[in-house]
Amino acid sequence: MGHPDIEPVVAQVQIPPGVLGPSPMAFEVRSFVMAGPGGVVLVDTCIPGSTELIGRAVARVGAEWRDVTDIVLTHRHFDHTGGLAETAELAIGATIWAGAEDAREIPFENGRAVRPLADGQEVGPLRVLRTPGHTPGHVSLLKEESSLLLIGDLVGSVDGALSFGPAAFMADPALNHRSLQRMVDLEPERILFSHGGEVPYPGDAIRQLLDRS
Ligand SMILES: [Zn+2]
Repeated sequence: MGHPDIEPVVAQVQIPPGVLGPSPMAFEVRSFVMAGPGGVVLVDTCIPGSTELIGRAVARVGAEWRDVTDIVLTHRHFDHTGGLAETAELAIGATIWAGAEDAREIPFENGRAVRPLADGQEVGPLRVLRTPGHTPGHVSLLKEESSLLLIGDLVGSVDGALSFGPAAFMADPALNHRSLQRMVDLEPERILFSHGGEVPYPGDAIRQLLDRS
């Protein structure tokens, strides 16, 4: 048996009462470890304290931290970038990337820059697609040969149903929905969210959601 070429990392986020509203909130956030011929790409770094979870996923693809060539951040939000400093310390050889408008907003103070991604750029086995809206610099990542698309927070799922998440975190809903429509038009077989698991027939489900939105 060989190793899988993509492994999710699922971290639990607990928000205390008074931060996002009067009630506490709990949700899950996902990073992805992607193995390619040239090394391993880590997509997002979850929250602080996630390196053990991420390290286990790196091992599941048959690699070690030193094999991580790139860390790609889908967008600036804390639940996707909060673990960056710790993660970068272990992935010492990795280049760190994010969409240009978000790269400059991601705090990172131990000497390694977050480099801006260009639309269409290749990072390991992934092609970068600019998908602004949720944040100005949000990017999605396409693995063409396996028809797999990572769409970050363009939309997510909760208990198997699609969800756009809290409105407070959506910079420009109309632009987000246009970006999401473009991604669905690529007709990928699998669509992976940064919050929540995969849904069956994701393209159909997302089209129906966009029609209602
Ligand atoms: Zn977000």
